[in-house]
Amino acid sequence: MRNVLAAVCVTCGAEYEGGAPVYNCPACGGILEIIYDYPYIKTVFTREKLDGRRDPTMWRYRELLPIEEDSQLPPLRVGGSPLYRAERLGERLGIRNLYLKDEGLNPTASLKDRASALAVVRAKKEGFSAAACSSTGNAASSLAGNAAAMGLRSFIFVPERAPVGKLTQLLIFGATVISVKGNYEDTFRLSAAAIEKYGWYNRNAAINPYLSEGKKTVSLEIAEQLNFAAPDYVAVSVGDGCTIAGIWKGFKDLYAAGLIDKLPKLISVQASGCCPVNRAFETNSPIARMEENTIADSIAVGVPRNGDKALLAIRESGGLAVNVTDDEILAAMKLLGKTAGVFGEPAGVTGTAGLKKAAEQNRIPADAVVVSVVTGNGLKDTASAQKATGDFSSPQSGLIHIPPDMDIRVEYLGNR
Ligand SMILES: *Cc1c(COP(=O)(O)O)cnc(C)c1O
Ligand SMILES: [Zn+2]
Repeated sequence: MRNVLAAVCVTCGAEYEGGAPVYNCPACGGILEIIYDYPYIKTVFTREKLDGRRDPTMWRYRELLPIEEDSQLPPLRVGGSPLYRAERLGERLGIRNLYLKDEGLNPTASLKDRASALAVVRAKKEGFSAAACSSTGNAASSLAGNAAAMGLRSFIFVPERAPVGKLTQLLIFGATVISVKGNYEDTFRLSAAAIEKYGWYNRNAAINPYLSEGKKTVSLEIAEQLNFAAPDYVAVSVGDGCTIAGIWKGFKDLYAAGLIDKLPKLISVQASGCCPVNRAFETNSPIARMEENTIADSIAVGVPRNGDKALLAIRESGGLAVNVTDDEILAAMKLLGKTAGVFGEPAGVTGTAGLKKAAEQNRIPADAVVVSVVTGNGLKDTASAQKATGDFSSPQSGLIHIPPDMDIRVEYLGNR
């Protein structure tokens, strides 16, 4: 890869030329970060070149991705998600320049597609016939979908509590699914052992440095959609920490390539019932395990695998941490739905819930340009969404039950 200089260990600083090795730092086990040849990239990756490119997917940024020129790319349309100006929601939050990046519109309906698409390109290039991961749901369904599109087999380890919609996606995409009686940590450990034993391509975020490279394309898109003016703030939900680290990497790469001239502050949002990254940030202490007590299954991660990368991203950006309750998450789900027409899963709207809270606490200037990333689609987990609407049999849900009689209908609807 002409554009990649090295992989650098975020823990011990060891450098591996040309991006090798593929997984963790052999010296200390730390997570690697891919470093590009920015002076070279400046010569081949320009606004003019992007303007002339029709491909709306994440591959339009290939000069800034760890792929070879002859790599086979997946056929699915990953990336190219819309950035909506959210005026009514912005009014409600007191943020004049608010945008929503709807990642629920990716092929398997979450931001994870960006990482999985890159993973299957690497797996194919490196000659694997199968890929595997452990996941609370979306990493899994995105790997299964992208692997299917690429002609690879997938082996997926999920914790028992994975929502039905996400499990169903896996089976439809033809994955071999192993549902582990235990929490996410147990699931992760088992998958690591199995991957080692069977030699599958490893799409676990803690291990594979290419995943955050895929995820960073959400930032490249946000910047391009804002005409290469970086926003002031980006709010996103945090579980393992790979997403927020990827978002940060994307903006830093663009900055290093001379395409933007400032960096945003990151707003790291976690659930109060599971916030090990935010707790470490606020108390300036190492990350320590927490229970996984939240409705937002995609970010119920008691032992974050990319926690250090996430902390570094929040700190370097001069960002902030916000924790929200499950009730605040459910309220944000309804608010997003009715003010913007965007339906997110619980972890998908957690960033917006945190943004709302931060705005109420006057931590965000009213004239700031703010992007809230909606990371996953609400249809993946309608059971949780029903907690936001209220039980369908209760009047509180807003569902009107009547006999098929027009007079009664008039009586009901007339005073609404
Ligand atoms: C995975 C995921 C996140 C968080 O990403 P991490 O890399 O685990 O921090 C947030 N929202 C959704 C919908 C996800 O699937
Ligand atoms: Zn190291």
